[in-house]
Amino acid sequence: MAFKLPDLPYAYDALEPYIDARTMEIHHTKHHAGYTNKLNNAIEGTELAGKSIEDILGNVSKYSTAVRNNGGGYYNHCLYWEIMSPNGGGEPTTQMNIAKAIERDFGSFENFKNEFINAALTRFGSGWAWLCTDDNDRLFVSSTPNQDNPLMDVVDQRGVPVLGIDVWEHAYYLNYQNRRAEYVNAFMNLINWQEVTKRFNEANEGAMKA
Ligand code: MN
Repeated sequence: MAFKLPDLPYAYDALEPYIDARTMEIHHTKHHAGYTNKLNNAIEGTELAGKSIEDILGNVSKYSTAVRNNGGGYYNHCLYWEIMSPNGGGEPTTQMNIAKAIERDFGSFENFKNEFINAALTRFGSGWAWLCTDDNDRLFVSSTPNQDNPLMDVVDQRGVPVLGIDVWEHAYYLNYQNRRAEYVNAFMNLINWQEVTKRFNEANEGAMKA
């Protein structure tokens, strides 16, 4: 079973004015499609064919650079599309578990937001900034280079990502050129907190079962 490029849960122009339709279309049909195809080529006929992407990433130190880069690229973009929404932004509502956890682990939503934006802005070159939950269900912010992510057994701080922002230039260059800060601030208006809290709940249930 090969990995499949997912459809976006909204139209290419749905996130305007924050992210333009052309950027979204190229990002999905060229970049994400490219990672997906190259991942499939890298695992075809190997012991990795048929494994879940989470399994592959959790042991990625054993595999080729092609699996690490394209497996990360495949997973990261699947998450990125889903944690954005045309109806997103603002703060999670107080009924959402993620809101309580942010308050507990960062002191306030404002503190979390500053730490997350700072991680996105200080990532040198291409990479991602994350909000993750660890083995003790505690939230932390991190950033990783290239297409690495916190599921991988090669990163400093491992966890399950519940929110992530792509800070590769291909995610914003057409509209924002070199102005990463404008893109990062615009992204904050798109965060689908319902999806983030769903992922947080699932990660915590998984941790309790393990
Ligand atoms: Mn990307």
